[in-house]
Amino acid sequence: MHRDTLLAADPSLRAVLDTEETLWINPRLLPFDTVDGLSQLVISDADIADAAARLRRFAPFIRRAFPETAETDGLIESPLRAIPQMQRHLAEMYDAEIPGRLLLKMDSHLAIAGSVKARGGIYEVLKHAEELALSAGRLTRTDDYAKLADLRDFFAQYTMQVGSTGNLGMSIGIMSAAIGFRVRVHMSADAKQWKKNLLRSHGVEVIEYADDYSRAVAEGRRASDADPMSHFVDDEKSVDLFLGYAVAAERLKEQLTAQGITVDPEHPLLVYIPAGVGGAPGGVSYGLRRLYHDDVHCFFVEPAQCPSVLLGIATQEFERANVHDYGIAGRTDADGLACASPSSLVTRIMTNHAAGDFTVSEAHLYDYLRALDQSEGIRIEPSSCAAFAGPLGLLRFPAGRAYCVAHGLTEQRLAHATQIAWATGGRLVPEEIWTEYLGTYR
Ligand SMILES: *Cc1c(COP(=O)(O)O)cnc(C)c1O
Repeated sequence: MHRDTLLAADPSLRAVLDTEETLWINPRLLPFDTVDGLSQLVISDADIADAAARLRRFAPFIRRAFPETAETDGLIESPLRAIPQMQRHLAEMYDAEIPGRLLLKMDSHLAIAGSVKARGGIYEVLKHAEELALSAGRLTRTDDYAKLADLRDFFAQYTMQVGSTGNLGMSIGIMSAAIGFRVRVHMSADAKQWKKNLLRSHGVEVIEYADDYSRAVAEGRRASDADPMSHFVDDEKSVDLFLGYAVAAERLKEQLTAQGITVDPEHPLLVYIPAGVGGAPGGVSYGLRRLYHDDVHCFFVEPAQCPSVLLGIATQEFERANVHDYGIAGRTDADGLACASPSSLVTRIMTNHAAGDFTVSEAHLYDYLRALDQSEGIRIEPSSCAAFAGPLGLLRFPAGRAYCVAHGLTEQRLAHATQIAWATGGRLVPEEIWTEYLGTYR
């Protein structure tokens, strides 16, 4: 389907196709109870609980391999922090109304991988390692998993491969190297040089392509399929990645409870998560919907230059949607979001769960980066900064105001709302790159 056909079918997509900042509201969002049954057939509560239990089993190993996780007892978890100064700063700078309380979920600062990929990517590596060790009789589920650190020679027979714009490669690469796997990361042209350097310093083999993300994934998949000792982490359809992300929801719930924050119809939760192929925001959002049902409103945020998840869901073309087919170049400084085609799994399973998708300009990514640095002294990478388009845009776009009306988000309820900007990456950015980011204007 091309631009004119699509516009005739759905005029609300004009701003998206014109690569303007906008908010697309998902007309297929359904009340939780009506889609619960079907959703559970795809990814059930038991599946998510199983993933959470697996991460707990691995905690002793993670604590041993990464002493930085001692504080969280080997669980890889990030702080949830109120950012009142950023909230005020944004409201003043953009003359915007940002109701309720704005919090930052700091997956930007997750241990080991320094991005949200520390959830899904690391989970998939661990799950694969567990399966191999169990079936070789090297491990039982009741063992202390710290002993896996002594099985490096066993794991060295196996290879992990992944296609990545950067952060997924870092999470797979660093954790695979810690387990003892051989690792090959297939990287797209958008990948930043410092991420390639960091991976190579961990002994990871980095293969570079002068093409976009879809090509890197296709090449990686092909290389891995040809080798029976190799496992490919498939960002475009992996259920394991999705489950690793989904575990974030119950952890967030604990944090909200610990901070005395209620989520119910009178105290809605609004979440804004940057999307590349959609795996991370899809998994996290899906987990949140399973816990909070219609009290949570999950929005994705994508670069206006690369709205692939939005187009995949809006057109119901899913993974077949490609921004290039609509005359959109897909070039963005948000390297973590530079995916021309979305995940098949996420565009399908989130079709009835996603509230909508904001798009953000290249210039604003850097403006928000500076704003957060100045107001709160927190640094997150450009891809991450996309999240702020959500709280800023909700009441600015007519579609957002209409959404609030349609979903009972009255002024009073919004005043009691918790809004979460999900920061997805940043901790591993080298100092000289921060200087570059802070000085970039688009
Ligand atoms: C990967 C990534 C995302 C989005 O995750 P997807 O699974 O590709 O949707 C967002 N922000 C950052 C910094 C990332 O690295």
